[in-house]
Amino acid sequence: MKKLKKHWKKILLGLSSLLIIVAGLGYWQIRRMGQVTVPEFVEIADNTYAIAEGMNQSGIYLLVGEEDAILIDTGNGLSDLPAGIKEITDLPVTVINTHGHYDHTRGNHYFETVYQSEKDAQVYAEYNTVEKVKEKMDEISPLIQLLLSAENETIYNTPIKEDVLALPESGSFDFAGRNLEIIELPGHTPGSIGLIDDATKSVFVGDALTKGGFLLGLEESLSPETQKETLLKLKELFESGRVTAAYGGHVNTAMTLEDVEKGLTIVNKIIDGDLTDEEKESGRISYQGMEVTFKTE
Ligand SMILES: [Zn+2]
Repeated sequence: MKKLKKHWKKILLGLSSLLIIVAGLGYWQIRRMGQVTVPEFVEIADNTYAIAEGMNQSGIYLLVGEEDAILIDTGNGLSDLPAGIKEITDLPVTVINTHGHYDHTRGNHYFETVYQSEKDAQVYAEYNTVEKVKEKMDEISPLIQLLLSAENETIYNTPIKEDVLALPESGSFDFAGRNLEIIELPGHTPGSIGLIDDATKSVFVGDALTKGGFLLGLEESLSPETQKETLLKLKELFESGRVTAAYGGHVNTAMTLEDVEKGLTIVNKIIDGDLTDEEKESGRISYQGMEVTFKTE
């Protein structure tokens, strides 16, 4: 009997030590997630590089030309972007934001020249406050909040770039041999834009479409009908053969026409009211691996 007690004591001691080690490692990992590190860009096409930054996998894309480079979005502020870019090119960098949300613009402060649609000026001003980040955190589960705690601390302390230049709403510009066209992709936010890169037959779409879906339930989001027009624009780009890949604002793997069509199916369901009671009530619909939020009355 005594032996058995001793045995259990040993097991308990072992288990509690293991728990302390796991908790310690978890804590260390969470702290590490909040550190600003030098990102390693991965080549996704000729002279085109990407990273997926932070827990939300914010997509940041670097397009290198002959005389200058364009950086599409700047993430959560968790990357020393100039140091990461220096590993690839010494060319001057111009930043274009796909929209004004803080998880795509917090690294703006590293750069001199940053463009963004004027239609997202209000979104940018509002989202780049500590209060807004905290408000967004209140909407998610306590576990995710805990996992994001160190990242958020870094986000709160990141300097905000105030002098953002107005991006022309549409039109093409030549940038060292690469023709880039700006297209408006409103829905997720009023000033969401995309960039078509003819050199690689790619379109960079921000949060207008991501592998995991899109958010239309935000206060600043526009109607599902507007989002439908946006997705039809992307569909046309694929069908005409002008692009073969779309890169979203989260998770930087290439999306195809199939992803656009999935998004269209969902948005049509919302427009037609073809929803379950639960979907209607929650303002959230999942379909084939995509999740979309929308405003409820
Ligand atoms: Zn967004």
